[in-house]
Amino acid sequence: MPLHLATEVVTLKTKHPFVIARGGGDDYRVVWVRLTDADGAEGWGEADPSKYYGETADTVLAVLQKLEPHLPKDAFELEAAEARFAQVVPKNGAARAALSAALHDLFGKRLGQPLWRLWGLDPAKAPYSSFTIGIDTAEQIRLKVAEAAAYPILKIKLGTDHDEDILRTIRDATDKPIRVDANAGWTRERAIALLPVLKEYGVEFVEQPLPPDDLEGIAAVRRRGVLPVVVDESCLVAADIPRVAAAADGINIKLAKCGSLREALRMIATARAHSMLVMVGCMIESSLGITAAAHFTPLVDAADLDGAALTANDPFIGATIDGGKIRLPTGPGLGVRRRSQDGRPG
Ligand code: MG
Repeated sequence: MPLHLATEVVTLKTKHPFVIARGGGDDYRVVWVRLTDADGAEGWGEADPSKYYGETADTVLAVLQKLEPHLPKDAFELEAAEARFAQVVPKNGAARAALSAALHDLFGKRLGQPLWRLWGLDPAKAPYSSFTIGIDTAEQIRLKVAEAAAYPILKIKLGTDHDEDILRTIRDATDKPIRVDANAGWTRERAIALLPVLKEYGVEFVEQPLPPDDLEGIAAVRRRGVLPVVVDESCLVAADIPRVAAAADGINIKLAKCGSLREALRMIATARAHSMLVMVGCMIESSLGITAAAHFTPLVDAADLDGAALTANDPFIGATIDGGKIRLPTGPGLGVRRRSQDGRPG
């Protein structure tokens, strides 16, 4: 008998409207996936769809239905199951990532070990996570910087016509290391003109300055030699890495883009083979989605896994960000449990 699939749409609310260069909001519909085996053991995963990559909670549900006949008998067939999913549905990374996480969770639970231990990783090597400040008014930005007091690194969303003002507001409020993400919101001229300003404000690196296909432009920004350039929207899966390696210094891995935990590990290996920096990012997610990505963070250089920290109604407890440091759970599989309805750990 194949694994049994159950799905549930969960609406996450962000503490503040979360706005980036291409817009935003405060309501995020994600899909909680549960796979049950013949013995009643359950594996959990979460799909965090992004319209930018053509997915919504509804497309996730439709894709999961399409993949249901291709579920394995148990969670030990990981390689073959994920290959089948990718063959049946080549895109739709968020939907496939939920199944991948649920299979890995079940796999770890059957073996009684946390996933990071099955991978042979040292949880102490997990990096600090940045905390993201979305595009907002100066007053709100100051408030968010104060709210982010526990986080030692900030990631600033840019790509507006007043980025210099945003940077000045942040710098007047804090001297923490900052990273910036333009989410493809600049032109070549604007990006190159801003580089000295970013440098002056102590920015560590710049993420996705230009549209994803403008690798020549991204390479030109990098050639200025002012700041390292990381690509996010330009790099979805491992096969994209040889193409972006000449244009950028690093990649930002997200499960919702690459569609599986195993593909995330392949991306890390491929990026390392190209001497690239590796960063892991997220969408607006609950702690279930964040924890799936957190398990491989001992292998990466930088993390931006604040998706659950930005939400006001996280239904799960898993990996935590403690003073910015990612702490991996010690329970078997993903090690995630449900928060009880009254908000206390359940
Ligand atoms: Mg990004």
